[in-house]
Amino acid sequence: MPVFRFAPSPNGYLHIGHAYSALRNQQLAREAGGRLLLRIEDIDTERCRPEFEAAIFEDLAWLGLEWEEPVRRQSEHFSDYARALERLTEDGLLYPCFCGRRDIAQAITGLTNWPRDPDGVPLYPGTCKHMNADERGRRLASGQSAALRLDLDEAVGRGGTKLGWREFGETADARDVAAEPSLWGDSVIGRRDIPASYHIAVAVDDALQGVTDVVRGKDLFNATSLHRLLQELLGLPAPGYHHHELLRDGAGAKLSKSARATPVRALRAEGISAAGVRARLGFS
Ligand code: GLU
Repeated sequence: MPVFRFAPSPNGYLHIGHAYSALRNQQLAREAGGRLLLRIEDIDTERCRPEFEAAIFEDLAWLGLEWEEPVRRQSEHFSDYARALERLTEDGLLYPCFCGRRDIAQAITGLTNWPRDPDGVPLYPGTCKHMNADERGRRLASGQSAALRLDLDEAVGRGGTKLGWREFGETADARDVAAEPSLWGDSVIGRRDIPASYHIAVAVDDALQGVTDVVRGKDLFNATSLHRLLQELLGLPAPGYHHHELLRDGAGAKLSKSARATPVRALRAEGISAAGVRARLGFS
């Protein structure tokens, strides 16, 4: 049976862009006769708050979303992500990186046209990748905190160069997309402050929860290249992906950016009904 999931981060109130994504998940799950899961992506325990989580449940229920219980809360599963990070480290695919943002900025100062990842972050220049083993061991032994970065060359070599995914986009016209993990360079897979990252948590959880269909905004389209690579390296199955437009109204036109950020509860406070919000987003 197809398994869908909506996976918000409780670091703010659910806005209308999230509502679209949640309702699209519900619609596709219903059409496919599948299950719908809700996953709380709260590995960033500094930014995520229980009151936002409670508000997400309340707003989704108000919108008419139904999901299976229990809800998976990522902050309760750090050991699953640690295990995956350990495996990748043992396989020689991750290396510790001691650089802060300032070290990286300094390392690329004066270099023109230094490449950036799809989020606009400069690609990692490889400083700690080339650190000698003694220095690395000394720093780790002294307790210096380190992020874990993917050795992209090694990973692509092992993950296969023919990596891709089935993309359904907004319609049933599926196409095959070639993954381009090199867009991300040696990215952080284990954060320095948290024993996980969005990327590893999403790859592990989608597999553990048996997710067959990932429905999310186009803003995460490029991240899928990295997710596919991690799935391949960890021997996890590949779901199908439905990257939807970031927001449409009933007529299919894009709503303004400010509308996208409107909290669902603000609309509710204005007296708009759930049916009205659904209709505005193109759902019956
Ligand atoms: N937690 C992510 C967000 O709120 C979504 C992750 C995903 O759907 O893969 O943007």
